[in-house]
Amino acid sequence: MTMTTMTTTAVLHDGFETVVGLEVHVQLATRHKLFSKARVRIGQPANTDLDAVDAGLPGALPVLNAQAVQFAARLGLALGSVVAPVSFFARKHYFYPDSPKGFQTSQGDQPILVGGEVTFVIDDVGGATMTVPLTRAHLEEDAGKSSHDPDGTRLDLNRAGTPLLEVVSEPTMHGGDEAMRFFRALRSVVVALGICDGNLQEGSMRADANVSVRRPGQPLGTRVELKNINSPRFLNDAVEHEAARQRRLISGGGVVVQETRLWDGEAGVSRSLRSKEDAPDYRFLTDPDLPAVVVSEALLARERAALPELPEARRRRYAQVLGLPHKQAAVIADEDALGVTFDAACAFAVGHERAVANWLVNEVNGLGADVVVAPAALARLVVLVETGALAGRDGKAVLRALASEGRATDAAAVDAFVDANGLRLATGEAAEAAIVAIVAAVFAENPTQVQQVKEGKDRIKGFLVGQVLKRAGKGVDPKLAQRLVDEAL
Ligand code: ADP
Ligand code: MG
Repeated sequence: MTMTTMTTTAVLHDGFETVVGLEVHVQLATRHKLFSKARVRIGQPANTDLDAVDAGLPGALPVLNAQAVQFAARLGLALGSVVAPVSFFARKHYFYPDSPKGFQTSQGDQPILVGGEVTFVIDDVGGATMTVPLTRAHLEEDAGKSSHDPDGTRLDLNRAGTPLLEVVSEPTMHGGDEAMRFFRALRSVVVALGICDGNLQEGSMRADANVSVRRPGQPLGTRVELKNINSPRFLNDAVEHEAARQRRLISGGGVVVQETRLWDGEAGVSRSLRSKEDAPDYRFLTDPDLPAVVVSEALLARERAALPELPEARRRRYAQVLGLPHKQAAVIADEDALGVTFDAACAFAVGHERAVANWLVNEVNGLGADVVVAPAALARLVVLVETGALAGRDGKAVLRALASEGRATDAAAVDAFVDANGLRLATGEAAEAAIVAIVAAVFAENPTQVQQVKEGKDRIKGFLVGQVLKRAGKGVDPKLAQRLVDEAL
């Protein structure tokens, strides 16, 4: 199987191509905040996870969380970035109640990661990939949350100071589909690395999409930034909607103004937030309270040695070595938990990898997120079915029964259930010879039907197989009966 890396070319709409660059905020799964010992948790009562630093009290001094630096370095190694041995924090000033210090602590012109790339499949069927270069990635703190109601504005600073890694791509994507795939691929990587929980509903990853349009060969057009998109589907919709808006504008003789817009995913519209003229002057200033961020060779060596197999490598291995269809290889490789289960189950079912993949994606995955099926139990079921010791339909019933009772814990549980319910089918040469004899008898008793099947009436074959099964009684694999009838014909 061959796979090519494509340099995609834009699809033109009314003579325009779309250009997209993404800034994705990845919430790092550290125990503590970026500059304080307060915990990072969701669902806590308002203003309980914070300390003096996060509340911006005068005199409170930040101390950098080493785990956040470690996570950033890990991502840099995974994506092929240069991990800066020394980088700095800067103050980005703006005034809003959810940022009580009066500035956001972020990294300015010397970020922790420079360059790198993200690779993802753009053709589900053929498995062709696209690679998007990264500009940089920098550490910064999240703001708190403000909510407005008729009584006034409420502030919750639990989120203030949560560590974010903002990953900035070059503007080389051509539309919503590529943007969505980039976002998903980055999610797969950060989850596989254990640096982010990837929980999009909780906002663990938020993208700002920069969108412009241009005639092919022209310089980049004026961009519009769509802020705070937390779902791949919304990202796709927002980009496509914005590109269409810009094409209409230009085609109607107008010009695109540089502005920031908010995408309303439910309503499917964007609204202007501020134009370039209203853009705040952030007055960037190197933070005097924080020393330089130093990443040692020793840390890099440790992290490099501990890097797991990354989703893209895993996907290629599944497709090229195990022969899984491209789409299925991607489905399993992109979801870390699925990939881990698949690899573990395959170790118990060597030679049946494609069957394991089918069972995992089609049967286990449908049981619900909280249902646990041990890899060894899954592998045992697959082996029993693949070797004809268990009918496929029975296998699925066994899986559902064991899983719903929380008993799909090991291979022995599967065998015990199969035997307790009398589902084990005879296999081997003696069993086969017995059925061959039954097939011969059934054929001798039903010459008309045999003749009809031979003349092409395929439907009648089911009748013959049915007769064989009826005579053979329980404990015979329908697939085996089918095969032996075919052979006799
Ligand atoms: P800023 O520093 O103002 O945020 P950058 O130049 O760093 O701006 O770019 C931010 C993001 O916008 C990057 O992801 C980049 O790829 C993207 N971008 C820049 N110019 C364009 C453009 N003309 N069209 C689409 N995306 C763009
Ligand atoms: Mg920006």
